Amino acid sequence: MNLLPYEYDASQIKGKAKQVIFPQSIGQVKSIVATSPKITIRGGGTGLSGGAVPNGDIVLDTSKLKKIGKLDQQRKTVEVEAGVILDDLEAFLEDYNLEFPVNPSSHTICTIGGMIATDAVGSRAIKYGATSKWARWIEVVDSKGNIGRKGATEMSDYTNMEGITGVIVKACLNLIPKQKRTASLIPVKDLDELLELTQKLKSHESISMVEMLDEFTSKGLGLEEKYHLIAEFEDNTGKMKDEKYTELLNLRDKVGPLLSREGYLMIEDPKLHHNKLKDFLTWLKIKKIPCFGHISVGIIHPRFKPNEEKLISEMMKVVKKLGGQVSGEHGIGILKKKFVDPQDKNIIINVKKRTDPENKFNSGKII
Ligand SMILES: Cc1cc2nc3c(=O)[nH]c(=O)nc-3n(C[C@H](O)[C@H](O)[C@H](O)COP(=O)(O)OP(=O)(O)OC[C@H]3O[C@@H](n4cnc5c(N)ncnc54)[C@H](O)[C@@H]3O)c2cc1C
Repeated sequence: MNLLPYEYDASQIKGKAKQVIFPQSIGQVKSIVATSPKITIRGGGTGLSGGAVPNGDIVLDTSKLKKIGKLDQQRKTVEVEAGVILDDLEAFLEDYNLEFPVNPSSHTICTIGGMIATDAVGSRAIKYGATSKWARWIEVVDSKGNIGRKGATEMSDYTNMEGITGVIVKACLNLIPKQKRTASLIPVKDLDELLELTQKLKSHESISMVEMLDEFTSKGLGLEEKYHLIAEFEDNTGKMKDEKYTELLNLRDKVGPLLSREGYLMIEDPKLHHNKLKDFLTWLKIKKIPCFGHISVGIIHPRFKPNEEKLISEMMKVVKKLGGQVSGEHGIGILKKKFVDPQDKNIIINVKKRTDPENKFNSGKII
């Protein structure tokens, strides 16, 4: 078997895999974990910080764990195995007029397990927040191969821990009724107007998304060379409805491939408080760093060329000076380890020692 595809994730960091195993059942996950010394857990491999990149160990790929189980239409919950792809879940739920509302742009490939492990956010963060908020319980295989169900109080040992504490094998998710949405594309004249309008849109009662495109990105998409906002509403407020609405959302999904084609292969995800966004976006503009992002929650995606490592470090200093977080949604993995605050690192080390004392899972990640 060619191991190469499993030695990367979307961060483009290259690792080394000893073997790749595709458990077909949760029972198989338990026996693989019990008998393997070191494991890297892999969902869809869309992570952007190297979390699923192996370090000479066994890759446990969850792609065969794709059973969609009990659907409770009354309580609006569904039980799913970890390897279920988000869009497959949405397609299943459509028949019942239900949906899972967290929507990362990697929805065609990312898995529910990966979304819980990274606590994925996405374009509808202003209304629906992060994945963990929508999990009622999760089932986790620990380093001895034992399975345990974790409810609200214990879940934080696993959500946003990027797989360093255990293998998430199953989850019960809360759902919402399927929404009919509309959207508007709004050009703005400058950063002041962009930020003022963002605040206004955030307080609109039916808003579900406010996305930002900078001038460079807008031009690349064939729009006017201006900042633009994409505002989505869960009623008829937006100007674009039905096919026009879908076209606009598809245009938003083209941003990543567009910037990659232009050579901006590296993506970052700092998160800033709204009142620091003007300073940050001005800095990016001066440095000619293209960006877009979930501006409603302060997550910006600046893009860099592969030889711009120094510029990324410079940007992280600016983020910290402005009181921001170095990662708003993509996680730490290997890529951002050097930027983690020592205090945060100590907290994570303690959780790791408690949940995975043998350092079996995803060693070398985050801490
Ligand atoms: C084009 C593109 C757009 C993206 N857009 C967004 C976005 O809008 N919002 C966002 O938050 N992220 C986004 N991402 C990042 C990424 O898609 C998310 O982090 C996603 O949740 C990862 O899911 P995955 O199944 O691909 O996980 P992987 O990449 O396979 O793994 C990610 C991490 O989770 C761990 N993991 C995976 N499955 C499990 C499991 N079952 N148990 C324990 N640990 C596990 C891995 O070890 C790794 O550390 C984007 C990525 C791409 C490439």
